[in-house]
Amino acid sequence: MSDFDYDVLVIGAGPGGYVAAIRAAQLGLKTACADGRETLGGTCLNVGCIPSKAMLHASEYFDAAANGAMAKMGIDVTPKLNLPAMHAQRVDAVKGLTAGIEFLFKKNKVDWLKGYAAFTGKDSVEVAGKTYRAKNIIIATGSSVTPLPGVEVDNDKQIIVDSTGALELAKVPGHMVVIGGGVIGLELGSVWRRLGAKVTCVEFLDQILPGMDADVRKDANRIFKKQGIEFKLKTKVTGAVVKGKKAVLTLEPAAGGDAETLEADVVLVSIGRRPNTDGLALDKAGLTVNARGQIETDHDFRTAVDGIWAIGDVIPGPMLAHKAEDEGIACAENIAGQTGIVNHDVIPSVVYTWPEIAGVGLTEEQAKEKGEVKVGKFPMAGNSRAKTNHEPDGFVKIIADAKTDRVLGVWCIASVAGTMIAQAAQAMEFGATSEDIAYTCHAHPTHSEAVKEAAMAVTGKPIHI
Ligand code: FAD
Ligand code: NAD
Repeated sequence: MSDFDYDVLVIGAGPGGYVAAIRAAQLGLKTACADGRETLGGTCLNVGCIPSKAMLHASEYFDAAANGAMAKMGIDVTPKLNLPAMHAQRVDAVKGLTAGIEFLFKKNKVDWLKGYAAFTGKDSVEVAGKTYRAKNIIIATGSSVTPLPGVEVDNDKQIIVDSTGALELAKVPGHMVVIGGGVIGLELGSVWRRLGAKVTCVEFLDQILPGMDADVRKDANRIFKKQGIEFKLKTKVTGAVVKGKKAVLTLEPAAGGDAETLEADVVLVSIGRRPNTDGLALDKAGLTVNARGQIETDHDFRTAVDGIWAIGDVIPGPMLAHKAEDEGIACAENIAGQTGIVNHDVIPSVVYTWPEIAGVGLTEEQAKEKGEVKVGKFPMAGNSRAKTNHEPDGFVKIIADAKTDRVLGVWCIASVAGTMIAQAAQAMEFGATSEDIAYTCHAHPTHSEAVKEAAMAVTGKPIHI
């Protein structure tokens, strides 16, 4: 250790990096974590998961009051939007949670090196003018917004914005155009639609939410349309110009054809994210990136260079906070000589719209490519709790191997799908069959009973449909 400053130096304090640093310190390793942001927590806590959920949660209440959902339950209210107060509770949530990570760093004796790190060698980095040597370096630099050529983001002007800008709009746009019908477009589009904006979503593909189960994508599209979001599928945005306080977008059919224009008060560019490696001077460490700009690792999160590890959005796989966190824990444990494993086949994903959309494992289409499957589906309209709560939209779908009955994938649309998917992930992690889920006693009345009924439907015997 003598000429090393640290056993572990983590670059990036997002959910991958800060969790890796805390775990490494818990395991007795001398640990530092470099990040140049004002506050810890990375994209997730500062400008991602947390502030978006703060706005989603608050706008959900507003919408329930405005769209008659509360009136259905005998509560007559006319909501009045106090947008500054809504933003204040978002800022407060971020402040509290990022300060919490700072507290955890102090508690676990993780040094926060304030600044952006660049490699100076394969075991050394420079942060804020100082060089540090570490036995192990974990790259956890995350990702940032993929730019769209011809559509220049300027968050300060609040006309063409990315997700960070869309979280902070000072007023509700008259017309918001969302470019990309993925997770960010639908979550943040939902926030502003609920608060009164007309929202148009332009998606390049023939359906929203690529990567999800086809039934889920189709039903989600129907539900969002019913809520008032307008979709322009199979359409690409080829440019945008700001004219006064508005943006004029040029759209073309994805397959080519006549262009049309669309005027918007706010345009949200949400066409994906790309790994952050610029500024790391990877070449000084002898590292390269793959064709998608990601750092490749083996199953243990080792890069091609001994002593350098990588986790989270900067490596291949879904760009999700919980994936990054689990990789952070496993990576730190591997560095400490333990066996850290992440099962990448069982990473749940959730879209926090109303209703929520969640899935884990294979889609029906992917499962069918691998072999014969049995599928059980149960509508939320048949679930007593969802029905009582006036939440009839959605379903649970379970895909099982036709021969072994082992569960290969679970998909759901339900008000609390994000919570329901946890039991599916746990069951899959334990190698459950659909019968195991069907014969597990589920509390009544809960939305989760729909998971049990979908499992019963795999062999054709649900009760409530
Ligand atoms: P990040 O969180 O991106 O953190 C990387 C950190 O590294 C940053 O703080 C950055 O400043 C720092 N950094 C970069 N380069 C350097 C350098 N050279 N030196 C030092 N530090 C550096 N995921 C979910 O699972 N659930 C959600 O609900 C969800 N909602 C989201 C909403 C939005 C609007 C966005 C944008 C993302 C959302 N995500 C969500 C995705 C989630 O935020 C990411 O998957 C997650 O943050 C990735 O974690 P990470 O640790 O790999 O990287
Ligand atoms: P995404 O990959 O989810 O969706 C981008 C969408 O844009 C796709 O549907 C794609 O077909 C479309 N697209 C691409 N180019 C286009 C173009 N030129 N014109 C029109 N459409 C185009 O990306 P995102 O929504 O920006 O989110 C980025 C990442 O952040 C995702 O990987 C996601 O995992 C993560 N995230 C997760 C959550 C969550 O877990 N709830 C929330 C927000 C973000």
